[in-house]
Amino acid sequence: MNTTPLPDPDSPTAWMADGLCRMYPPATFFPSDGVGVDKARKICAGCPVKETCLEHALDHRIEHGVWGGCSERERRRILKRRRLEAAAN
Ligand code: SF4
Repeated sequence: MNTTPLPDPDSPTAWMADGLCRMYPPATFFPSDGVGVDKARKICAGCPVKETCLEHALDHRIEHGVWGGCSERERRRILKRRRLEAAAN
């Protein structure tokens, strides 16, 4: 059971209360290998706040862990693609 306190419902991170990761140990989302990343991704796939979580990680340039079903490497790729798209417009 996760004993992490619930975020303040009025805070910008109130969505975290609905994240499926609350039911798992935090280390599940900070894997050390690809197998661990896949395990975290599978949990994120069914999470109702997946998109919000990913955008939060991208906006805050969070470098570590799986957020919104994306690894650090995947988030770096998304940010790079967005930079290139913004530069092209
Ligand atoms: S998408 Fe994954 S990391 Fe984000 S809140 Fe949901 S379960 Fe947690």
